[in-house]
Order: sequence, then structure tokens, then C-alpha cells
Amino acid sequence: MKLVFKVTSTQRLIITSQAVEQLLLHVQKGCWQREAGGVLLGRHLLDSDDIVVDEVTSPQPSDRRSRFSFFRSKKHEHIARERWLEEASTLAYLGLWHTHPEDSPTPSHVDRQDWQQAVANDTFDGSRLFFPIVGRKEIRVWTKSRFGDIRELKRETS
Ligand SMILES: [Zn+2]
Repeated sequence: MKLVFKVTSTQRLIITSQAVEQLLLHVQKGCWQREAGGVLLGRHLLDSDDIVVDEVTSPQPSDRRSRFSFFRSKKHEHIARERWLEEASTLAYLGLWHTHPEDSPTPSHVDRQDWQQAVANDTFDGSRLFFPIVGRKEIRVWTKSRFGDIRELKRETS
């Protein structure tokens, strides 16, 4: 099932069912499971302001993972770049995702710093990046624009 979030009065973030399924593969159900994460890849639609997440990268062997932390390796950038080249430059980098071992996830101080740095340092189109956290019972999404604060997006009943 796809997930739809309200970004502004004219803009929605749509995570396709395919991408949601990829995210749900990494839900931390058991206490042995480590945090997972990657980048979001998708499109800025031409006929509306909507943004679509088509796929996500999966954890890489070079990532450093524990039950309560996740450090993304450079490998995700390489995959994003490769996919971008393969898709004739249509697949955009839209943000970062990771999992939390809690039912309803909330960002840590480190997460917020990570997101601030991504918006400040990463190359991306558009005005903002998106930061889903995959909890055990729900996926919550935060966003940060180039000049704005971090805020959570409201889920739309689609
Ligand atoms: Zn986190």
C-alpha cells in the first residue's frame, strides 16, 4: 500500500507501494535486528508539485549497524549515482531513511544533526529533503527545507 503525506497545501510526498515494501523488509521486529537505512530515490512530478519515492537503497555491508545506531557508508551515494545514470537522469535523490526499534519512531539528536548536514551538504533538486523513520508499527516522515526547520509531515488518508 502506498503512503501519502502532506508537505504543503499544494504538495504531497507519495511513497509507492514498492518502496514501502522495501522499507518494511527492515522493520526491527526482533531484539536481534539491527538498525537499517539508506537513501530515497524518486521523481519530482511534472504535472503537479507532488514528489514520488520510487525506490530506496538497502543496507550495505560497508554500513556500520547496531541495534540503536546506523551509520550510512558512501556506498549509498554510489548506488544512487548508478541508478541515476541508468534511469537517464530521472531518478532524483530525495532523502534518507532508517529504522528504529520503537513502535512509533521519534528522531534522536544524532538523527536531527544528520538531517541538518544532509540538507546543508548534499546535492539535490527542489527545496527540501525527506527523512522517513521506519518504526515497528508505523513509518513517520520528517522534512527539512534549505532554510526551514525540521518538521514532521502529516499522513494523508488516501
Ligand atoms: Zn534514528
